[in-house]
Amino acid sequence: MLKLENVDAKYASFKALDGVSMDIEPGELVVLLGSNGAGKTTLFNTISGLLKPAAGRIHVNGRDMTGSKPSALVQAGVVQCAEGRKLFPDMSVLKNLMLGGYVHRRDRAGMKNTLEHVLAMFPILDEKKNEAAGSLSGGQQQMVALGRALMGRPKLLLLDEPSLGLAPLVVKQVFETIKTINAEGTTVLLAEQNAYAALKIATRAYVIENGRLVMQGDRDEMLGNEAIRKAYIGA
Ligand code: ATP
Repeated sequence: MLKLENVDAKYASFKALDGVSMDIEPGELVVLLGSNGAGKTTLFNTISGLLKPAAGRIHVNGRDMTGSKPSALVQAGVVQCAEGRKLFPDMSVLKNLMLGGYVHRRDRAGMKNTLEHVLAMFPILDEKKNEAAGSLSGGQQQMVALGRALMGRPKLLLLDEPSLGLAPLVVKQVFETIKTINAEGTTVLLAEQNAYAALKIATRAYVIENGRLVMQGDRDEMLGNEAIRKAYIGA
């Protein structure tokens, strides 16, 4: 699904990603662990084409997409759900959702179906679909952001800190939803501070430190790893 080979990313002369290689198979739910400033957002932006890699190759479904524009990556099924949600607060929930399919989908009937599916997944959004997105609670806005990403019918969904700033009960719902999205066939790469909850639903994880992937392993290996527990789980 996604293959990175020795990818570097730079901000001026600062190397924020250093030789990152990763391989994600279709259907996986992979967690990216890393402390603040480790390079998670940079990696996501590089995969989604917002940032051009300074070196290395990026393949999506066997196609070399290195240096492709974000719109081309969306076409290829790579959809990023950004940290901080970035909704249009004055626009209705419905309009925000529809924007998720606007860039590349011309199939109106298909979009209507996806919308129905998204509203069934988030009944609260169905109830509030005509309200301004900015008037919703933090958790509900996160649902809109997830729903908007799903409107693009992603094959690979990049989720950057979806539980950031949410109340514990809502966090639980967000993780349940991510699990459902993955079970329905979408491959997911998830960056999370909430390492325990993320690992619980994951197949595998990578650890990033100072722009380098320093460790990887399957869920149980990571959950059982002393260093991981100390650094990211705190128990
Ligand atoms: P956080 O969880 O705090 O967002 P992160 O793991 O996502 O952290 P990045 O935002 O990718 O980390 O940042 C990686 C490094 O690149 C940090 O040292 C950061 O200061 C630096 N950096 C990020 N964005 C820029 C930028 N636009 N210009 C210069 N340096 C940047």
